[in-house]
Amino acid sequence: MSHIFGRSTKTQPPVAVAGDGCYLVDASGKRYLDGSGGAAVSCLGHSNERVRAALHAQMDTLAFAHTGFFTSAPAEELADRLVAAAPEGIDRVYLVSGGSEAVEAALKLARQYFLEIGQPDRHRVIARRQSYHGNTLGALATGGNAWRRAQFAPMLVETTHISPCYEYRGRAEDESPLAYGQRVADELEIEIQRLGPDTVMAFVAEPVVGATLGAVPAVEGYLKRIREICDRHGVLMILDEVMCGMGRTGHLFACAEDGVAPDMITIAKGLGAGYQPIGALMTSGKIYDAIAAGSGFFQHGHTYMGHAMAAAAANAVLTEFEEHDLMARVRLQGELLQSCLTDALGQHPHVGDIRGRGLFRGIEIVADRDSKTHFDPARKLHARIKAAAFAEGLICYPMGGTLDGIVGDHVLLAPPLIIEDAQIDELVGKLCTAIDTALAD
Ligand code: PMP
Repeated sequence: MSHIFGRSTKTQPPVAVAGDGCYLVDASGKRYLDGSGGAAVSCLGHSNERVRAALHAQMDTLAFAHTGFFTSAPAEELADRLVAAAPEGIDRVYLVSGGSEAVEAALKLARQYFLEIGQPDRHRVIARRQSYHGNTLGALATGGNAWRRAQFAPMLVETTHISPCYEYRGRAEDESPLAYGQRVADELEIEIQRLGPDTVMAFVAEPVVGATLGAVPAVEGYLKRIREICDRHGVLMILDEVMCGMGRTGHLFACAEDGVAPDMITIAKGLGAGYQPIGALMTSGKIYDAIAAGSGFFQHGHTYMGHAMAAAAANAVLTEFEEHDLMARVRLQGELLQSCLTDALGQHPHVGDIRGRGLFRGIEIVADRDSKTHFDPARKLHARIKAAAFAEGLICYPMGGTLDGIVGDHVLLAPPLIIEDAQIDELVGKLCTAIDTALAD
């Protein structure tokens, strides 16, 4: 009997014993192609030499020094490198241990910012339906996934949610993508007016939606309109790039493709590439300066923030990106993955949409392509696809829901950025088998 209290009390997962490039190996010797990098984490595969060496070297010099007393060379280097690549105006980095911590820090920093600048009524957050921003209480409250929120609802701070930018289901037939994007962005303006502009603190969204919808990018112009609306009302724009950031879409920061600079960005997952737990809240100088001119102290913190080992791993990840020109490779391999998926599944009677950016792709399964109706959620098709793929030796990240949190069944693909052409073929082949096995079940 395992004493681990993990995700499910009903099933016992296999024991992972080794990582080998894009593959994980279990105790029986079975190999799994990591088609989703776990949950968009393992961007360099599972046996990267540079990261391993960096971790050994860091361990030999300094493992940890509490940030209440010290900073460290790897943490300073990491902050410098992230800022150098960040959108304009983002010039401070608050290092944490994961995505939820980064989102919590963003919410609390936003609140403190408005206190420091003398706008104490601003405390409300607006986010989007069918979104996920983490599982700690503040981040969970921000997310608009009804299923994840439901049982904790009495414990969540009030957050309101507008529509996501979800072209496949939201755009009317006679509407251009641009007009659709402006229409759903304008919901933010309406919501700010309804709540009272002087009470709204921040708007939070993912540039490319990951864990709830399966790689749904915003349409062109959407985030620019959001930026304008936030500016008009003095509301902070927080982009959650925990999943879509750090090279996943072919840019270190996904919002670069949308041509916007938010006030804060949260990152995690790919930053440590699975070798270390690390995340960061990146923020604009405007916010930092307000704290500096005021109390001089952000009233927040975690024991492991700025951990030297985690920062050393992240620096090695960034060096790998640079030395192998991985952003260009992601864009190329992303196109290949999209075209292989389209060739294999584009005419499938139950595949409604294949979408995404870079090596961040989503497939939406439907009962009927014309009406876009979804399968009965009780059938849990997404879970069946996951199980069938796993049996085939493929890790993919399916999602679906029984409440309005997620409509339909989706599969998210986020393979290591080093994936080779032959492995893309293997991924697509196994996924097709898994989808058909699950549908036949
Ligand atoms: N934000 C987004 C967009 C995410 O996808 C996730 C994780 N799936 C989180 C926040 C939370 O990150 P973590 O699980 O590292 O706390």
